[in-house]
Amino acid sequence: MWQEYLYPVTVAEAVQMLADYGGRARVIAGGTDLVLQLRSGERQAFCLVDVSRIEKLRGITETDEIITIGAATTHAEVAASPLIRRRAEVLAQAAAEVGSPQIRNRGTLGGNVLNAQPAADTALALLALDAQAEVVGQGGAYWLPMSEMYAGPGVSRVDSSTKLVRAFRFRGLGWQAGSSYRRLGKCKSIALPVICAAAVVHLDGAKFVSAAISLGPVAPRPWRPAAAEAWLAGQPAADENIAQAAKLAQQDAKPRSSLLRCSSDYRREMVAVLVRDTLSSAVAAARR
Ligand SMILES: Cc1cc2nc3c(=O)[nH]c(=O)nc-3n(C[C@H](O)[C@H](O)[C@H](O)COP(=O)(O)OP(=O)(O)OC[C@H]3O[C@@H](n4cnc5c(N)ncnc54)[C@H](O)[C@@H]3O)c2cc1C
Repeated sequence: MWQEYLYPVTVAEAVQMLADYGGRARVIAGGTDLVLQLRSGERQAFCLVDVSRIEKLRGITETDEIITIGAATTHAEVAASPLIRRRAEVLAQAAAEVGSPQIRNRGTLGGNVLNAQPAADTALALLALDAQAEVVGQGGAYWLPMSEMYAGPGVSRVDSSTKLVRAFRFRGLGWQAGSSYRRLGKCKSIALPVICAAAVVHLDGAKFVSAAISLGPVAPRPWRPAAAEAWLAGQPAADENIAQAAKLAQQDAKPRSSLLRCSSDYRREMVAVLVRDTLSSAVAAARR
């Protein structure tokens, strides 16, 4: 278990604290994943650097169409934000699906993404939004696309013992764009998801300009079905094309059988259902 617990109030101070401990400290935000992992011995840290009091890591802003969300913003704040509900509904819907009110009040966007689980709700939405994460370390800051965020199951490319994520940014959805998120679980209370899907579409009149789909847990990381997305680009936004994209996503997805999440056959069927459902809702939103 940890021996020291620090509260930096600036990003520079947090980065310096991580450097001072030479890999023996770790960023903590809401602690809803990390405290359990420290208790079970799955992770070790001598010192925890709590980023929840750093003002620059909180809040949601929009400048020149680009929405920026501080990494320590909670799921409850994201789900309730009028800006996110209007300009990135998929993310508001995903944040509203996380755990329970207690978990949404403590858990943060940064923790959800950096914990690197293949079905992390807000990570799936951010991936479909083509978001980027601002990573800050002793060497400076850089923007990392969500598509390059994961090194493997449960492993992100950001080492939280030397670096922190300050914010996420993406282009807000406007005219002729829409999005949607769906999560299928065995029950409505806290339960592992059977399948989660996010969709973001851009239309030009009756046709798709582009469609982004992300799915979990069907691969070792949050996953985008490239063939389904490629099929939709330039096609009429019609039910038969959405059904074909759902079929392509279903062919490429690799959900495993699990006692807690159902059989792989059932989950594969549900991939097609959720892709169809989220794409249709996103198209309807884009037309409103
Ligand atoms: C009962 C329960 C139900 C849950 N239900 C869901 C659910 O339905 N959907 C879902 O997706 N998740 C769920 N979770 C998982 C968890 O709540 C979320 O992943 C949450 O968003 C984690 O955020 P946090 O701020 O608590 O992260 P923490 O536990 O503080 O940190 C998680 C990891 O991210 C790193 N980290 C955190 N912030 C930063 C940062 N800014 N920069 C660098 N590294 C950082 C930490 O070092 C740690 O490795 C549940 C957890 C519990 C206990």
